[in-house]
Amino acid sequence: MQTVLVAGGAGFIGSHLCNSLLKDKYKVICIDSLITGDKKNIEPLLKNPNYKFIQEDITRPYEKWLSPITKNSRLDYVFHLASPASPNKKSKKSYINYPIETLLANSLGTYNLLEMAQKFESKFLYTSSSEIYGDPAISPQKETYFGNVNPNGIRSVYDEGKRFGEAMTFGYVRKYNLDARIIRIFNTYGPMMQKDDGRVVSNFINQAIENTSLTIYGKGTQTRSFCFIDDMVLGIKRAMFSSLSRGEVFNLGHTEEKTILELAKLIKSLTDSQSEIEFEELPVDDPKTRRPDITKAREILGWEPKITIEEGLRKTVAYFEDL
Ligand code: UDP
Repeated sequence: MQTVLVAGGAGFIGSHLCNSLLKDKYKVICIDSLITGDKKNIEPLLKNPNYKFIQEDITRPYEKWLSPITKNSRLDYVFHLASPASPNKKSKKSYINYPIETLLANSLGTYNLLEMAQKFESKFLYTSSSEIYGDPAISPQKETYFGNVNPNGIRSVYDEGKRFGEAMTFGYVRKYNLDARIIRIFNTYGPMMQKDDGRVVSNFINQAIENTSLTIYGKGTQTRSFCFIDDMVLGIKRAMFSSLSRGEVFNLGHTEEKTILELAKLIKSLTDSQSEIEFEELPVDDPKTRRPDITKAREILGWEPKITIEEGLRKTVAYFEDL
């Protein structure tokens, strides 16, 4: 049985990934500081004998928290998903409210995990983000696009953190020939998103269910492309386990682009909601457009999302209705 470590495994994407890896019969070690991750996400996994949870911060050297578990054992794969990820400053869990933690998780944290991967000869995957493209001047965004990022704006702690994490990962690829790859995750949604993390999909669904106003920031003409979690988890696993992904960068996301106003109307109709739409101020540096070019993932990983936004939103609405 091979052993996998998932840093950030108690977050929304991380907990789905751990669950899927356990089904695939890997032994899973999850590390999460729980500053934005949620213990509720991993409760069902805790009784699985192949799952081990460590509440720790990856900015602490791995020898401090990993050695007792892996003494004399192997660590085959390391997934780095540990970082706050919501840009909504109204949410306590936003990276705007954890600026230093976000920068350190992606810099020092990435360094510590790369050192660990090097020591254990593990394969490594760094989860970067569509945010490294900033407010893109071209659309769709290809992996070769360098982006348009404000280096010290309000979102910079995340954007520049992810850019640094990419540079650090490739430092190990170039200097030590580490078997590593990078994925850039575009907007992803689904069950187990946190109700209060301020993302547009969870906000709109909760507002629609509660019949309160849907809060559109700006005019709602900005676009995003929304990928359902199950498709994303398959993409992440393909990127790690494919023999062709070493030293490569892949965009992972849905290619169907929607304006935020279209998303609001779609969620209203799927929930039969009486909610009004209310327009609020657009946050600073909010990207006007975002859509991945996933040609590379299609060709090299044989991956593309299969789940339509209507189907994915229905499942997500059902989850939030059950809460
Ligand atoms: N947004 C919105 N209302 C909300 C939350 C977000 O209009 O209640 C907008 C936000 O300004 C952005 C888009 O929806 O343009 C996506 O926001 P999200 O926080 O989900 O992630 P982002 O793609 O900006 O990282």
